[in-house]
Order: sequence, then structure tokens, then C-alpha cells
Amino acid sequence: MNFNDSEIVNSIMLDRGHSPAETPENADIIFVNTCSIRDNAEQRVWARLKYFNSIKKNQNDDLIVGMLGCMAERLKEEVLEREKLVDMVVGPDAYRDIPGLLDEVESGQKAVNVILSLEETYADISPVRTTGNGVSAFVTIMRGCDNMCAFCVVPFTRGRERSRPKESILNEIRDLSEKGYKEVTLLGQNVNSYNFEGTTFANLMYEASQINPEIRFRFSSPHPKDFPDELLHVIADQPNVCNYIHIPAQSGNNEVLKRMRRPYTREQYLKLIEKMRTIIPGLSLSTDIITGFCGETEEQHKDTVDLMGHVQFDLAYLFAYSERGRTLAERKFEDDVPEDVKKRRLSEIITTHRTGAKISNDAEVGKRHLILVEGPSKRSDKQLCGRTDTNKMVIIDTDKFDAGDYVEVEITSATSATLKADAIRKTTLQEFFKNLAVA
Ligand code: SAH
Ligand code: SF4
Repeated sequence: MNFNDSEIVNSIMLDRGHSPAETPENADIIFVNTCSIRDNAEQRVWARLKYFNSIKKNQNDDLIVGMLGCMAERLKEEVLEREKLVDMVVGPDAYRDIPGLLDEVESGQKAVNVILSLEETYADISPVRTTGNGVSAFVTIMRGCDNMCAFCVVPFTRGRERSRPKESILNEIRDLSEKGYKEVTLLGQNVNSYNFEGTTFANLMYEASQINPEIRFRFSSPHPKDFPDELLHVIADQPNVCNYIHIPAQSGNNEVLKRMRRPYTREQYLKLIEKMRTIIPGLSLSTDIITGFCGETEEQHKDTVDLMGHVQFDLAYLFAYSERGRTLAERKFEDDVPEDVKKRRLSEIITTHRTGAKISNDAEVGKRHLILVEGPSKRSDKQLCGRTDTNKMVIIDTDKFDAGDYVEVEITSATSATLKADAIRKTTLQEFFKNLAVA
């Protein structure tokens, strides 16, 4: 979501007549778009700001440094005082005000806008893409969050939930289609609460999928409390809606879930997973887990390990709990799991995840998949990488395809994180699924 926000800011800056600088050392203005979700994200921002400040001191007195996003919203004016590292502080709903704020800074003042909005969705601003290689794009469909999970700072930094008008989303996707994009990920903090004049997320996903059968669609994130069957059927029935669901569990223990203010039980979560796998054969799943939340006992942690062993997620984003200011957990509970225990529990869930993912990936050997080529692999220019419909990273030993090509592959080996495959042929999404249906 932050990448996509930066692309909106990019568009606003190009309109003001700026152009991108090659390096921070050559820039007149540097914006740091920040995340507050965990303390280590914020620590990285401070380190980066110190570096930019050294450029200002040693090389360019006139350099303007701005802090954008969630940290700006969380710390507000305080940021201007703290170590005096920035000239400008802009919250996630105030990006339209950046030109005006820059005017203020250019006339020698410090500038702040951290006002949150009930309506802003930047619907009419076309993001100027800097990520995704002309192949993949994020499209934000809603902003903010009303869920108030006890551990989470998002409702405080991104404000109230609001849905972007349907037509502006579909128009953005039509535009991406014309530009040759092949993959679109729809983004929101809780996509299933999307509601624009009666259009639900399942309706929106269906309509989006009809724009271009060669664009594959993904989404992030749904919440286990309100996942509708209708969306499962859209995923199952539309070949270009990927068979992959990211469904954050956070914990496998009912008391912890209750303290987290996640309104579902372990049993309901597992039932949902079972239903997803029944309706969508070949589905792959990922999750988010927080380990070491306030009051988490060894037994409760074991329930999470057990849930992970049971589900065998294909991918997982695993975090040690990090206390965030203003959240319910910070106000009501004690952050009482010692750091070394959090670390040990984290490494236990990582091991459990890897074991499950390896079993799931091993079962792919010999199977055919359609990958969308992203570009050279990290290791070698002679190899390419791309993801399956099920969001598994695949490496092929050839460089003869281009980013954005769909390639049919046969999986030859697996680790817990990546698959290796032989390339069979370049194809199209429709052709691949037609052949699959015949086979
Ligand atoms: N809206 C999404 C999550 C967005 S935040 C959802 O509800 O699924 C992404 C992930 O960061 C969360 O799912 C959670 O696992 C993690 N997270 C959020 N707050 C955290 C905290 N205080 N400490 C550690 N991890 C946290
Ligand atoms: Fe945070 Fe919960 Fe909202 Fe996700 S649903 S952004 S975890 S408050």
C-alpha cells in the first residue's frame, strides 16, 4: 500500500513540474514514505533520515526532506522537533496538499499537514508507476480501517475506512490493461468490507476480472471474520482470479484472539480454510501471525504452532509482537513476553512454517503451472523468475522470455520458498486454462 501511495505522490510531484532524481545525492527534495506497523520499521526510517540529513549538511544546504505516511501521522509536529531531521510532515490523507506545503518550505517555514479525512481516496489521481516492471500493479480500492485490532496502529495512522468509487477503480484497471499490464493486486486493509453504493468486493472483483481475460488478479487482505462464499466462487470460476488467498490468522489460540480483538475463533478459522479448499481445488494460502502478544503463554503459543502445522500455509509473514502507542493493547495490557521468548517462539513458528511449505512445494514436482515472468532471478541473469497463479516463486534456467510473458512450466524441484522448473512454452492465460480444462 505504501508503494502505491508513493506512486500517487509521484504523480502529484510530476504535476508540480518536478522530475525524478537518479540518487538521493542529486535530489532537491527527498520524501520518505514511512510505515509504523512495527518498531523496527520506524527505526529504519530514522536511520535513513540521518543519512539524508548528512547529505543536507555536507553537500546541499537547500535539500528539502519530508516525512510522509504513517509515522508522520503518528508523531505529527513532534517529528519536526525530534533531531530536526525533516522540513515537512505529511499524513496519508494530505498528499494533495504537498505542492502547497512545498511552497511553505521553500519560503523558509516548516510545514505540516496530518489531517485525516473521511472521504479522500485519491480516486482521480493516476498513480505514476515505479514498481512492477510494467507487468504488475497495485490498485488501492479502499483506505483506512475501522477494525481496531488491539495490537494495530493502522486505524490511528490511516484513519476511518472508506471505499473508492467503483468506476474509478475499473477505469484505472482499463488503463493498466491498455498499457500492457498483466497482473493487478487490489488492496485494502479489509477488502471484504468494500462497499461502494451497494457494490461488494466480490462484485468488484468479478467486474474487474472481465476487463481483460489476460490480466491475472490478486487481492490483499481479507479478514477471517467476514469472508463471503460469493468471493470464493468468483475465485473458483474466473480463471484470471488467482487461486491464492492471504488470510491472516494472527494466532491459533482463542483467548489470544479475543485479547487481540480478532472476532473469530480458531475453530471458525479452520472451518473457513476447509471451505476455501473445498470450493477452490489447488488453492494456496498464506497468513500473518504475531507471536508473543501480551499475556501469551507457552500453551497458547503451542496452539499457534499446532494451527500452522495443521493448515500448512504455502507462504507466511511471521512477526514478533511490537507494542504501538495509542493501541488498545498499549493502554490495557502489559507487553509481558520477554524479547528472548518472543524470538524463540518466532523461530519455532518459522520452522513449523518451513516444514509445512516444503511438504506443499514438494507435492508440486512434476506438475504444470503457468508463470508470469517478472524478470531475471536474483541469483543470475541467465535465469528468469515468475510466480504461479498460486503465488509460488518459480525459477527457470533460461533467459529467452521477456518480463510479462506467460510461460507454461513443469516443476522439477522445490525448497520451502522456491520452485525450480523447466520452461515448456510461451502461452496465454486463456490458452493455458483451456488446455488444463481439456486435460
Ligand atoms: N489489514 C491487514 C493487516 C495489515 S498489517 C489484516 O488485518 O489482515 C500487516 C500485519 O502486520 C498484520 O496482519 C499483523 O500480523 C502485523 N502486525 C500489525 N501490528 C503489529 C504489531 N503491533 N506487532 C507485530 N506485528 C503486527
Ligand atoms: Fe490493523 Fe486489524 Fe485493521 Fe488489519 S484489520 S489494519 S490488523 S486494525
